[in-house]
Amino acid sequence: MADVTKFLTGIENFQQQHFGENPELANTLIEGQKPQALLIGCCDSRVDPALVTDSSQGDLFILRNIANLVPPYLKSNEHHGVSSSIEYAVCNLEVSDIIVFGHSHCGGIGALMDSAKGEEAGEFIGKWVNIAASARDKVLQEMPNETPDKQARACEKEAILVSLRNLMTFPWVRERVAKGQLSLHGWYYNMGTGQLRYYNQLTEEFEVLVKHYSPDRQKEQESTS
Ligand SMILES: [Zn+2]
Repeated sequence: MADVTKFLTGIENFQQQHFGENPELANTLIEGQKPQALLIGCCDSRVDPALVTDSSQGDLFILRNIANLVPPYLKSNEHHGVSSSIEYAVCNLEVSDIIVFGHSHCGGIGALMDSAKGEEAGEFIGKWVNIAASARDKVLQEMPNETPDKQARACEKEAILVSLRNLMTFPWVRERVAKGQLSLHGWYYNMGTGQLRYYNQLTEEFEVLVKHYSPDRQKEQESTS
């Protein structure tokens, strides 16, 4: 069995850092949560949303799944983990923002791209990532001669747009957006450079929102971002 001691040490360090210097914090936290935003991110261990955004406890209501996808609104007897999380954030916590937080080099999107070659991933993964099948099909149609890497980077961004559109199929999301009470954001994080882009609905482009941390790394990564 792998040694999990480092996680226990991490919890002790966390407690010391956050509660040792601020004993009142615990009292504030147990009173309830009022996060500003729901962030829908990928499960990928390299892009922890709280770490990447340097957020504190209570800042973000975070929903993570393979490839940060939102399925369309669908009432059925299945277990709707994603939809229930969105419902709680929007209807109960009344967040003012929803951020779909996509990222580069996403394994889930890689599985989606591979499915075009007839490779269905896992028991559940293939069906799940198929939510963004239209993104994959669009990329393959528009850039059939690009390298698989470039196609995957493009699909990662297109899949964010699929999730944004699917969010608007939830009636209580649509209503709040129409009233100006809720804003939807599509963000794309390049883990190779640290650069963050956002989807500009006016230009229909992913534009730079936060610059990369290293100009050299940026040059290196530009060919695949
Ligand atoms: Zn991912």
